[in-house]
Amino acid sequence: MASAFKNALRQLADSSALLASDFPDKRRFRQAIDHLKNPQRLLKKKLVLRLDGQKKASFQAFRSQYNDARGPFKGGIRFHPQVSEDEVKALSFWMAVKCAVTDIPYGGGKGGIKIDPKKHSEAELRRLSKEYASWLSPYIGPWKDVPAPDVNTGEREMAWMLEAFEGRFGSHAPATFTGKPIALGGSLGRTEATGQGGVYILSEYSKIKKLKNSKTEIAVQGFGNVGFWFSKLAGKLGYKIVAVSDSSGGIYDPKGLNVDKLSLLKEKFGSFEKASKKEGLKFITNEDVLTLPVDILAPAALENAIGEDNAMRVKAKAILELANGPTSPEGEKILLRKKVDVIPDVLCNAGGVTVSYFEWVQNLHGYRWTKERVNSELSVVMKKSFGDIYSIVKSKKVSFRNAAYILALKRIVDAMMLRGRV
Ligand code: NAD
Repeated sequence: MASAFKNALRQLADSSALLASDFPDKRRFRQAIDHLKNPQRLLKKKLVLRLDGQKKASFQAFRSQYNDARGPFKGGIRFHPQVSEDEVKALSFWMAVKCAVTDIPYGGGKGGIKIDPKKHSEAELRRLSKEYASWLSPYIGPWKDVPAPDVNTGEREMAWMLEAFEGRFGSHAPATFTGKPIALGGSLGRTEATGQGGVYILSEYSKIKKLKNSKTEIAVQGFGNVGFWFSKLAGKLGYKIVAVSDSSGGIYDPKGLNVDKLSLLKEKFGSFEKASKKEGLKFITNEDVLTLPVDILAPAALENAIGEDNAMRVKAKAILELANGPTSPEGEKILLRKKVDVIPDVLCNAGGVTVSYFEWVQNLHGYRWTKERVNSELSVVMKKSFGDIYSIVKSKKVSFRNAAYILALKRIVDAMMLRGRV
């Protein structure tokens, strides 16, 4: 697989070239960009886990703290066999950009453990989560680094990690983690926030392209937290979800799918492949999902779904990047040549970190917002971010991604300069 961090550095190089003219002090600007070519701190440790049968196993763990000029580091923790130093570095860079795009006061961070959680019991995952948080405890906290869930982690893991952290810290500190269970200070609306934020962006994009919801066909790759909620909430607004997929493959119906029913079937049978066989639904491969003749393709699984090898075959008119890094730079070049709009991850999936920010704010004040308040504040942030980016698209005649990076890098570099870091 292509290096995600190399992709991130190419995005940094491309956008800094477009931004350079905005900074009269070229030397300081170059210094700032040089700083941004590496995380400020990269933590690595082999964590030893006592397995249920009393044997021990070790798992490589990471935390990348990218840049904190705009506020504490912020970013999820992923449990996946493909977790690597390269991946956490890239994801933490994208988090820094994402927080700056939405203008929320955080820097970027990301962590992970190289493990296949499906092969471990709940007790093992609990011990490992606690071990991870204990190891990180000197480096995280409400004003240092605020982790959250990511692929294969959720509120359960955040609760375990919070307990381990607070034990070390010697005090309650719920604002250390976001994406917690509601009972432990989680925010209403956090579970669906990334999908909901993606739907706000879809609505804004539809406005500028004058798309009619009921005539807009959407294919979604990935049916986890993000893919499910996006499909469900877009469907509720009348958009036509014609395909959804998981790692086994996808279900396709050009007449439109019932997302809630598919969710129940996936729960019952474990995968779309099995569900399609049992229920006689049209099954397509993952590759086919990406190349369907739809208006909008929403990749919501992992990195590098669209690259040099398949971008030519993509037939969608626009890509809504709900996953992090689903389009490689080579893939994007091909798409842009084909006049496909690529609405970047740092905007489309920023709903998650935005509601995480609301959770942190609530925790710091010991207060709870209603779900209506969360969603209305989220809508304001997402719409404003889309508007800020679209005005750069028009004024500088650049792609949506370049516009997002220009906006974000300017904010990060300004903060670094104001602090006298360069
Ligand atoms: P998740 O673990 O809940 O779901 C991932 C889904 O992707 C699963 O349905 C899985 O079967 C599917 N999948 C894996 N490989 C696939 C493949 N090759 N083809 C099709 N489907 C495949 O994860 P999530 O939380 O929904 O995150 C998805 C993406 O969104 C990740 O890139 C993550 O970093 C990003 N993201 C998540 C959040 C959040 O709040 N959860 C926020 C921002 C970004």
